[in-house]
Amino acid sequence: MITPFTIAILGGDGIGPEVVAEGVKVLRAVEAILAGVRFDLVEHSVGAGEYLRSGNPLPAATLERMEEADAILLGAMGLPSVRWPNGVEMTPQIDIREQLDLYNGVRPIRLYHELHTPLRGYSANGTGRRIDFVIIRENCEGLFSERLTPRPVGRDFETDTMKITRRGAERICREAFKLAQKRRKLCTLVDKANVLPSMAFFRKIFDEVGRDFPEVKTEHVYVDAMALFLVQRPDSFDVMVTENMFGDILSDLGAGIVGGMGMAPSADLGDTYGLFQPSHGTAPTIAGKGIANPIATILSVAMMLEWLEHPETVRGACLIQSAVERVLENPAHRTADVGGRTTTKQMGDLVCQALT
Ligand code: ATP
Repeated sequence: MITPFTIAILGGDGIGPEVVAEGVKVLRAVEAILAGVRFDLVEHSVGAGEYLRSGNPLPAATLERMEEADAILLGAMGLPSVRWPNGVEMTPQIDIREQLDLYNGVRPIRLYHELHTPLRGYSANGTGRRIDFVIIRENCEGLFSERLTPRPVGRDFETDTMKITRRGAERICREAFKLAQKRRKLCTLVDKANVLPSMAFFRKIFDEVGRDFPEVKTEHVYVDAMALFLVQRPDSFDVMVTENMFGDILSDLGAGIVGGMGMAPSADLGDTYGLFQPSHGTAPTIAGKGIANPIATILSVAMMLEWLEHPETVRGACLIQSAVERVLENPAHRTADVGGRTTTKQMGDLVCQALT
């Protein structure tokens, strides 16, 4: 018997379609190896290009199709030159997270080759220290929560609200602890509890949830200190959990120490839906040149297969993960962002060849 999985494919704008094409190539290659599963891919148009066509970067009908799918694979959306009439850039990826309640932003940060990092003394294996941790970013509240609230015009001040609800904090902390339990059993809360009452509340809830996971060690680190520690000793972290905006910033910093945005996959998960995409944006300056790094997207495909939780898709996730490790072990296999000359398509082909 074959188990079918419907995957909504959203290339989006800029380099999105280029990197998604390689992710799909790898998905098809792994499908040919797996037994008893099939992937039915359904493509949808979203983002700045769709806005120019239809006036809506995320049409309601597309969102409905995404909800019907078993998982969503997204490239990147938005272009700096395409804005709403009021001048604000479109953020359909944030809208999707909120509308599908994808509260759990999972951002693995892992070094695959010592040549990828600007830091000294780290390597993917062997003698050097390892970089291998996961940022859990709360995706649906925090400092982004009031961003769409209409504001009176003409005021001489603006405010944004750091909103932390008990429900929001509890569920994200629980996800972080569950993940830490499967990994090296250290869960770090990143907050600003010394200054902001919302963050002191977040800390209280983190500590409460932590009591249900006695085998997981916990620590609290202020967000400013974490910016320092991620450069000085990134090897000392396992899972860290934080609010929306801090997670947004630390994800880029994390990507920066393992080779850049092209090396950073992500999953936005809720209790019902799962969306998988590289952490990067549309990178318009390199779009169409065939040089974008597809590794973040390919690793996001692996995260999707793991999340689908069928024994064969989980096996597929492991196959992709090992293939990426094997390919990147060879320093000749590097795209331009990490100092090499491998093209987007060549990198996708290399991962497919390394799958068996
Ligand atoms: P957004 O606001 O949409 O998240 P951003 O402004 O953070 O986007 P990105 O598009 O993520 O910007 O790009 C940040 C930098 O990383 C740029 O220099 C871009 O060229 C580079 N970059 C991003 N993704 C890749 C990739 N897959 N391969 C190579 N370089 C990339």
